[in-house]
Amino acid sequence: MSDNGKVIRKCIICGSDDYEIIFTFTYEFLTNTYKNVSPGYVDEIGWMPDTTSSIVRCRKCGSIYTRDVFVGYERAKGNNPLEEDVRASKTGYTIQMAECVGILHSILFLIQNSSFQQMRNSQKYIKFLDFGSGSGAISNLACAMGVRDVYALDPYTIYQKTFYEKYNFPGIVFSRDKEEIFKYAPFDVVVSSSVFEHLFDPMNELISIYDNMSKGSFFYITNPFMDIDREINQLRNAKAIYKKDIICHYHPGHINYLKPKQFKNLVENIGFEVLSFSVKPHVPLTKHSIKQHLYHNSVRFAKTAFNLLGVPYNRQAFIVRKK
Ligand SMILES: [Zn+2]
Repeated sequence: MSDNGKVIRKCIICGSDDYEIIFTFTYEFLTNTYKNVSPGYVDEIGWMPDTTSSIVRCRKCGSIYTRDVFVGYERAKGNNPLEEDVRASKTGYTIQMAECVGILHSILFLIQNSSFQQMRNSQKYIKFLDFGSGSGAISNLACAMGVRDVYALDPYTIYQKTFYEKYNFPGIVFSRDKEEIFKYAPFDVVVSSSVFEHLFDPMNELISIYDNMSKGSFFYITNPFMDIDREINQLRNAKAIYKKDIICHYHPGHINYLKPKQFKNLVENIGFEVLSFSVKPHVPLTKHSIKQHLYHNSVRFAKTAFNLLGVPYNRQAFIVRKK
């Protein structure tokens, strides 16, 4: 029963079911070629030797998405019992976090400027939503930067309430349940990093965020830029894919492959005003050793140069505002 756990999606943007297949994930691919999951995990979540999941392109609007989503791939990770052993996050503050500090500073500055007076009059504090919070690193940053009311929402994270209570800043309101968090709406700042490529219904998730934001509030979004048209041959011909390889972002847990302009159109259609939109590499900061640091810096320098020349690299970032 290889179709157990599979759900068919129509186009995530226009709803059409007229599509062409671009790439098909197979059991063989996940157990032999793709080296970022253990073959045991693939069996554990219910893939059988004949299970497949395909990335398609909508013939009507051009959106790229996974049509037959194997739901277990993503959700199995979120179903651990609450009593499970709680450990500190291994990843800690990563390079993206360093970038995030800058972004949060900018957004908090913007919002303090635009609504400071109003907030002081109404004794209201900024409400900060970390959408797709994972281990809560961004929520911690927000707390460290002085935000009092921080809400962390993530339906699929392996991290539990007990993890948040033990390892994160006190006072962060965490839940896997959207309703539980949205009852604190409206939010004045929303941040989501590497979330939308995972969501089953990205358009409606964006709409529900929009509906739960205050007027004039800001939303910072970063998505990996998975340019399958450019990388398809590499993907098809790969013998082994490791975490260091750029094409390691193609796996059944990533189910939306919207290109930067498609994502921009989507947020604009929902009603957001796009203030800033960039496609860029990670910033050159924080690595464990000097050697690694220099190596990665030079790589990033090259990527930055590509970006300045208008050659898109591996990340898209948006700052949008609810008008
Ligand atoms: Zn479409």
